[in-house]
Amino acid sequence: MDTHFNTGELVAVLTTQPLRRTLDYRAPEGGCFAGAFVEVPLGPRKVLGVVWGAGAGDYDVSKVRSVIRVLDVPSMREEMQTFLSRAADYTLTPLPAMLRLATRAPGLGDPPSMRKVYRRGEGQPDRATAARTRVLETLATYGDLSFTLKELADQAGVSSSVVKGLVAQGAVREEDAPRDVPFPRLDLARSGHDLTADQEAAAQALSQGFAEERYGTTLLQGVTGSGKTEVYLEAVATAVEAGRQALVLLPEIALTEQFLTRIEARFGAKPAEWHSGVTMTERRRVWKMVATGDAQVVVGARSALFLPYQRLGLIVVDEEHDTSYKQEDGVLYNARDMAVLRASICGARVVLASATPSLESWANAQDGKYRHLRLTSRFGPAVLPQMQAIDMRAESLPGGRWISPALQRAVSARLERSEQALLFINRRGYAPVTLCRACGQQIGCDHCDARMVEHRFLKRLVCHQCGESRPMPTVCPHCEAEDRLSAVGPGVERLTEEAQALFPDARVATLSSDLFGSARALKAEIEAIAAGEADIIVGTQLVAKGHNFPNLTLVGVIDADLSLHGSDPRAAERTFQLMQQVAGRAGRAEAPGTAMLQTYQPDHAVIRAILGGDQEAFWQAEADARRAAGVPPFGRLAGIILSSTDLAEAHDAGAALARNDRALREIGAQVFGPAPAPIARVRGRHRIRLLVKADKAAPLQAALARWIAPLRLRGELRLAIDIDPQSFL
Ligand code: ADP
Ligand code: ZN
Repeated sequence: MDTHFNTGELVAVLTTQPLRRTLDYRAPEGGCFAGAFVEVPLGPRKVLGVVWGAGAGDYDVSKVRSVIRVLDVPSMREEMQTFLSRAADYTLTPLPAMLRLATRAPGLGDPPSMRKVYRRGEGQPDRATAARTRVLETLATYGDLSFTLKELADQAGVSSSVVKGLVAQGAVREEDAPRDVPFPRLDLARSGHDLTADQEAAAQALSQGFAEERYGTTLLQGVTGSGKTEVYLEAVATAVEAGRQALVLLPEIALTEQFLTRIEARFGAKPAEWHSGVTMTERRRVWKMVATGDAQVVVGARSALFLPYQRLGLIVVDEEHDTSYKQEDGVLYNARDMAVLRASICGARVVLASATPSLESWANAQDGKYRHLRLTSRFGPAVLPQMQAIDMRAESLPGGRWISPALQRAVSARLERSEQALLFINRRGYAPVTLCRACGQQIGCDHCDARMVEHRFLKRLVCHQCGESRPMPTVCPHCEAEDRLSAVGPGVERLTEEAQALFPDARVATLSSDLFGSARALKAEIEAIAAGEADIIVGTQLVAKGHNFPNLTLVGVIDADLSLHGSDPRAAERTFQLMQQVAGRAGRAEAPGTAMLQTYQPDHAVIRAILGGDQEAFWQAEADARRAAGVPPFGRLAGIILSSTDLAEAHDAGAALARNDRALREIGAQVFGPAPAPIARVRGRHRIRLLVKADKAAPLQAALARWIAPLRLRGELRLAIDIDPQSFL
């Protein structure tokens, strides 16, 4: 039973305000429970808070103010308090910032919003017109159900004034009903597809432990198209049947539309949806329905992990290797790790699904920390694509062109057979560099240490760091020479142009995230392509994620070497995953697929591993290399980014940290830097990086906290700590 505080007793309240600690208040009239959402006075304002526990009593008792009111929403469960505290400790984030993540629905404290609904009343109309009769018949047909005014008028085919007239006579009753209606229940009696023996075994294995509230994580590793989704939907069904809620995390909002349709087809009802594209009213509805348990399944982005589940039983992290699970601003957390943390606290199951797991998850499965399930073949007649390299050193290609003769021949062959081909390049825009042929300068962003990227469809230059854009100039901003600006290097738009020139009769479609205003527009385009309305698809990594084009039989990777360069310790892993994912788009139906990789380094170990298709060997080799280097998952890293409008200020703060590294030395950790970040300036702020490296078992967070404690963040100086960084820019 939750602790209850009587009227006037001291309680500690955590607010969403940037304070370092909880504040004491007096419990309101009638008292309150621990975990209650409350409104409290703070200076002249009223702010949202949660009763975190008993008051600390270290504040002048005569000045302690009273909680204003307890909000009419279910209390925060103890499990959620624990989760937020542990997540805060892990990411070195102040608790108020974690509470903000958990309350990202506006107006939680408002009384439930109401709307008018209409149902059959006691009275009879004075005169039975045809229109009035239709209204009463409609209500009779649906028994006791209630309608909104518009629904009823539309259904009966009358104007709303007819309904209002009936209300005046008591034949129709007008009532207030809460706007936040529960989600329709899933129909669990429906069954999914008949599973293959492999799929069935995996589904069985995933469908245990819900009733016992036993924590466990499973890595569901299966090639693209092997039916991972079919399998984990069975686990969703079992979890819901056991009275527990299920959360499915997807890496990309653009994928949710498709997925919602799939859930609806399987269970006859749409689940709750939670991501940045969801309206504020809908967010509040979802938050409340999740809290009361009236939302059985939630599909969403990483922030859906912080919703107030009543009985969370299952978290699926689909495409678990995807880097977008790492939140890169504000609270820096990895949703995959947080899913495991949350599940371990509330006794839930986690399914990490991927064709190309992260090395972290693969290593945990090897160690026996996670259960490892595999699906090794594609469903139905589909087979995995054949992988080939095109050695670019042997291809003759004029400047400004990127599609090699070998790839061109392969595309032609597909077009002749009326099959689709995909050309993949992981670069948005027309060209990564715009150079002045007169003065040799490149056009850069005024606020960032980054080049402006030409987006020819938009006729603008765009900075991919800060988003700033300006019209494409005709005159060089440096030397003012006219018409001497030229595009250098390929982007997805330029490749579209090249493909169209090489294949003038083909219909070319471009898929890049910046070309679609909404998820819906993107979904429509994807459906059109799947229905055969394009012959050649030119796309960025957007196409690598989960889309299914049945008639696609060739994938051409323009620059397989692209992500191999750079200092990112995960470069090999990333390249391997991306190439496997992209190649996996080919041959998803009857016709077998081929993936061709244009590379200047066909003998590079990673390229060879991709071509050889021996995933296990690749992970083994990669694991050995990381173990030897003592980097994650075999050691621990933390990135420190200091930024300021004043370079010297950021640098001096970094140098002071590096000098005073006793707290780190005490746990055997090393600090590297300070050094300017690879992107040394973003939005006018100079960025300095330090990197801390420690043994796997070292108490890194506690040491980091002690290490940075003396740092005073005055003026413009900002500090961000990134535990287990994914980005080193
Ligand atoms: P993955 O998630 O591994 O990429 P999916 O679950 O999306 O694979 O399955 C790929 C395609 O094959 C989907 O269209 C799915 O509906 C279909 N499919 C998979 N398993 C079955 C099955 N047992 N019966 C019918 N269709 C299936
Ligand atoms: Zn910029």
